[in-house]
Amino acid sequence: MANDASTVFDLVILGGGSGGYAAALRAAQLGLDVALIEKDKLGGTCLHRGCIPTKALLHAGEVADQSRESAEFGVKTSFEGIDMAGVHKYKDGVISGLYKGLQGLVASRKITYVEGAGYLSSPTSVDVNGQRYEGRHILLATGSVPKTLPGLTIDHDRIISSDDALVMDRVPKSAIILGGGVIGVEFASVWKSFGADVTVVEGLKHLVPVEDENSSKLLERAFRKRGIKFNLGTFFEKAEYTNDGVKVTLADGKEFEAEVLLVAIGRGPVSEGLGYEEAGVAMDRGFVTVDEYCRTSVPTISAVGDLIPTLQLAHVGFAEGILVAERLAGLNPVPVDYAGVPRVTYCNPEVASVGLTEAQAKERYGADKVVTLKYNLAGNGKSKILKTSGEVKLVQVRDGAVVGVHMVGDRMGEQVAEAQLIYNWEALPAEVAQLIHAHPTQTEALGEAHLALAGKPLHSHD
Ligand SMILES: Cc1cc2nc3c(=O)[nH]c(=O)nc-3n(C[C@H](O)[C@H](O)[C@H](O)COP(=O)(O)OP(=O)(O)OC[C@H]3O[C@@H](n4cnc5c(N)ncnc54)[C@H](O)[C@@H]3O)c2cc1C
Repeated sequence: MANDASTVFDLVILGGGSGGYAAALRAAQLGLDVALIEKDKLGGTCLHRGCIPTKALLHAGEVADQSRESAEFGVKTSFEGIDMAGVHKYKDGVISGLYKGLQGLVASRKITYVEGAGYLSSPTSVDVNGQRYEGRHILLATGSVPKTLPGLTIDHDRIISSDDALVMDRVPKSAIILGGGVIGVEFASVWKSFGADVTVVEGLKHLVPVEDENSSKLLERAFRKRGIKFNLGTFFEKAEYTNDGVKVTLADGKEFEAEVLLVAIGRGPVSEGLGYEEAGVAMDRGFVTVDEYCRTSVPTISAVGDLIPTLQLAHVGFAEGILVAERLAGLNPVPVDYAGVPRVTYCNPEVASVGLTEAQAKERYGADKVVTLKYNLAGNGKSKILKTSGEVKLVQVRDGAVVGVHMVGDRMGEQVAEAQLIYNWEALPAEVAQLIHAHPTQTEALGEAHLALAGKPLHSHD
């Protein structure tokens, strides 16, 4: 192993996804000498196989739906079908523009970018392509990959993961989606908009089961209306090939058949065979465990992103990467408040939330201390114009701050920015009610919900 002892970096980062590159950019900005090691493409899952491509597909789906439904708005168009090559061209164009921009950013911050698969060779070094990169500190940010179940093999053809679904050259006639979490319902939404017959199979009681139950129920109602089928509350038993597709059997014997089966049951950490355990890094079921400052059990090693057992979201990776960079640069950053992280599921309709669900709030504060309010989008002019329905639900500690905001409806993801300010600033309903919201916007729904919670409802009943 060639040991380039002449250079000892302040920070060596393994993995150039959201967590790794955010740490690299912030550390370099703060004057640290940084090496960033990536075996595939800078930007990682989010840019190439996650957030960005899925949202491009969802937007294409929205355009398809709008062209189908245009007559409702008095506009004459005809929907002729989906040209997958054209959809991929659009999606890949978005990705490549952002990819170039990110490469430019990394280069401009004088970060040493290393292409290749890295291995943690000691608590202060990573080996790549026969070269050793020494660092005063190491950041592990190797992310995650799609999970499957024992006996369920992803064949990349009929039984596929989200990585495969993003590059499919056709719209499947029918699809079973195993898992009704964020990734599952987003693909259900896209494929339905593209014309597929979709069934979601979720073992828990609801779609998007980590959301407030009210949001899950509203999404289920909307999916039913859109003709997206789902089976809840029974777990998967097995999948078998049929002549032209896949048959899924559930634990209660119920069977479903479709052309493809998308396995969307979650993502597992990338940590095996990378030298982590050998270096003494404490792990739990493959995740690297950390404290609130993203410090591992080894003083010279930190870890961020999907590799650690926090919310698997790109903006969480960014925040954790920045936290580590600022800590190493001697600043005094505050730990991430994970309940204060905005969460958006970009299916149609969108599901957005921040803070505690009603159930979590009751557990934390006691059932008699929690007040909730639902504002129906039927009273919101802009939502009527968009022909969307849904609700804003607020969870408040009695006579205290709003501790949860849960929204369902087209474009409601865009409202989460205000919702997170309300939660993170521990705003009282009366304080938010004081703020004027522009008319007619969907932001008014959030304003009106707070007016009602403050005891002075405008476009809603007492
Ligand atoms: C379909 C889908 C949709 C999603 N949509 C959203 C969304 O809308 N919003 C959102 O916030 N999040 C979304 N996510 C989640 C988001 O993509 C992840 O939370 C985020 O990418 C995690 O960042 P990370 O840096 O931890 O890991 P990753 O982005 O996975 O990056 C890890 C990087 O490490 C590299 N690597 C691994 N091992 C090595 C090695 N040995 N040597 C060198 N490099 C290595 C990998 O190649 C990879 O580039 C989505 C994910 C998926 C799959």
